[in-house]
This record gives sequence, structure tokens and C-alpha cells, in this order.
Amino acid sequence: MPLSANNPDRTSWLHVDKNSDFPIQNIPFGVFLTRDDIITIGTRIGDTAIDLGALHQLGYFDGIPLTDDIFLQDTLNDFIADGRKTWRLVRNRIAQIFDANNDTLKNNKQHKEIVLFRLDEIEMQLPVQIGDYTDFYASKEHATNIGTMFRGEENALMPNWLHMPVGYHGRSSSIIPSGIPVHRPQGQTLPEGSDTPVFGPSKLVDFELEMAFITTDANDLGEPIPIEEAEDYIFGLVLFNDWSARDIQKWEYVPLGPFLGKNFASTISPWIVTLDALEPFRVETPKQDPKPLKYLQFKGKKSFDINLEAAIKPKGAKETVVCKSNFKYMYWNMAQQLAHHTVNGCPINSGDMMGSGTISGPTPDSYGSMLELTWKGENPIKMKDGTERKFINDNDTVIMRAFCKNDDVQIGFGEVKTKMLPIFSPQKKK
Ligand code: CA
Repeated sequence: MPLSANNPDRTSWLHVDKNSDFPIQNIPFGVFLTRDDIITIGTRIGDTAIDLGALHQLGYFDGIPLTDDIFLQDTLNDFIADGRKTWRLVRNRIAQIFDANNDTLKNNKQHKEIVLFRLDEIEMQLPVQIGDYTDFYASKEHATNIGTMFRGEENALMPNWLHMPVGYHGRSSSIIPSGIPVHRPQGQTLPEGSDTPVFGPSKLVDFELEMAFITTDANDLGEPIPIEEAEDYIFGLVLFNDWSARDIQKWEYVPLGPFLGKNFASTISPWIVTLDALEPFRVETPKQDPKPLKYLQFKGKKSFDINLEAAIKPKGAKETVVCKSNFKYMYWNMAQQLAHHTVNGCPINSGDMMGSGTISGPTPDSYGSMLELTWKGENPIKMKDGTERKFINDNDTVIMRAFCKNDDVQIGFGEVKTKMLPIFSPQKKK
């Protein structure tokens, strides 16, 4: 089916700023609460949010096989489960409805009042009910940096790392949309030089600059997904801040891996940008040496050129961009991750989420975490307000951005923004 929604020559009758992440070629999917307190599935063009539930009720999706209530839900899981053909039909139709040459909705004032919202009239929700969340560790630069810090240059990469996309099962209950503040976690840590742990606030709260992909129902128990088919099951991507408490993580992670240092919060951008919208930005995956095993071998361009940045905004001050990276640096691509995840027959469901792992680039200003940017805190970063950061302070807001850009079009994810509050205090809870 043609991706007519991606036509770079199309313009919309809705206003779109020149540098917007959301031109008519993007058409992401999200869930929002409207000014009337109704929850609905929607999309966004420029700074206008569009109620797809209302559009469907008014007949604008006639001819596309959709159940009546498919967009009147508080998650995208059922729509995602409808599969790629339906996603494409809906995106193509939305592009038609809002095309500058189509007057039908444009000239229907009554319908527009029902369907269109300003961004300040809505509140973005988590777009999917995330059943299972898996986090990979797929950036060679990141794995090398972390390995060098903790095991030395000679043993930086574990022997398995170049042979498989290493990952672990995370926790979905603490995944939140952009804008929701997070409390500094408390836990056990082992003070330097001591052999007795202490309990208290984490002193080393960090961000991890990641992307994550959302899947549709893919396979039954026991059935692997071949790598050539893997992308068919990827609905889209979000920008992802996988918060980490480094001191808690360091004390707890041997032998079973990350636990409480990782599962206190992870923040995603609220609009899922479809894999279809990212088609024009495919690039080669970095050369893989040694050659991976057969089930991980692939043909064609399976990586995506997505510019990434992370900034820290201290309370009352301007933000300082601390890192610029790119999703294309990932050593293991998403198709390989999904093929590996299911090679043992592990089922993947609609609304599952897979984090890429911290995306670090080759240069020190492209590292995707404070742990790497400041090299364990040895080289603090100067903020615009004159203060320094080794890790994230109370009341800092971490802001991440992601966008693709070529000569024709910019397709972006908007922002992921989270404020780090002081530790939870029962007295302050109303
Ligand atoms: Ca992570």
C-alpha cells in the first residue's frame, strides 16, 4: 500500500510553523484529555490536536474497516493491534482530510469546532497501556564507555556483546508521559571504601537518552519472528528518558542486573511517530564485526537518522544543552532486537515497548548520560547559570528532543520533559 501520507509536496490548511516537528507528513498518534474532560485518541498537525474519535463519528473514515469505538478509547492498543494495513489507511486518510486542496472539513465550521483543539486545551496521556517493557543495551559507544569505567579498557565489552543485542526486562508500571514530575528515589547504596550499605536518597540520579519502539501483536508462544518480518510489527517510536540511580544500580546489579536503580521512573514523549513516517530517514546500520549469527543477519537500511539532544534546566534558569547524539549510532537495529527477543519463542503483544538503551555517539559531547558526559562525575558540566552538574540535582528539569530532517521535511517527536523533585515526603502529600 502506498504511503501517500508521506508525500513531501503536500501542505495543510492547518497552520504549521516552518520548524515544527509535526508537519502534515508526520501524523503521529497519541491519547489526550479534551477541554470537555473526554479521553480520546488523536493526532497532531502543527500546534493543532485532532480528535480522531470525533472525526470517525462524523464519517471521515468511511470505507476503512474500523470498529465504531476504535478511537474512543483511553489507549492505542486496539488500534495498534489492527495492524500495519489499517495504520496506513488511517494515516493516508488524515493526510487527505487536512490537505490544503481539500475543503470538506476546512469549510465545515461546526465539525471543526468538534474536532480541533489548541494544545493548551488538551492534556496528553500515556498513549498505550504498556504490557511489557524491555530495555536493550545496543549502543557500542555507551557499552564501551560504561565497561571502561567499571572494568577497564581491556575488558570494556563483555564477550557476548558483539554477538547479540543484550537486554533485560524492565517494569512498565513506572513509565509516564512527558510533563509528570518524579521524586528522587531512595535506596541502598554502598559508600566508597565501605563494606556496609546505607539507606538514603540516591546521590547519582541520571538520565538515559533513548528511543523506544512500540509493537503490535506479533507472534504466538514458541514462534520466532524472522528478521525480514520484524519491522512489520513495529508501530512507531517515542523519545525515552530512562531515569537511572547510578549508586543504587552499582550496589544491586550483580548478579541479576538492574532493579530499583532503574524502575522508579521512565518518561516517554506522548506522540508515537509511526515507523512509516520515518521511512525517508533510513540509513545503514554501523558495520557489524564479527558478522552476527544467521538469525540476526539483515538486508537493506534498517537504522534511522534521528537527531537527539538532552538539556538540563535548573530551577529559574535557562536550559543548557549537555548532549547531542543520533539514533543512527546504534550498533544493533530494531529489527535485530525484535528478532533476537523472539528467537526463543517469547510472545510480543500490542503495546509492548522496547527501549534502545542509552544512545551515545563517538564524541564526548554525544554521550547519552551524565555518567559518561562527566565521566563518573570527574568532569562536571558548566551550566549557563554558572552552576555545575555531575548528575541531576533536585528541581532540575531534564528536556530531551528528537527530530529527523532532510531537504523536504522535518519529522519530530517534540519534547520529553521531566522535573526531578526532592525525595517523597509523606507530610507534603495532601
Ligand atoms: Ca536504559
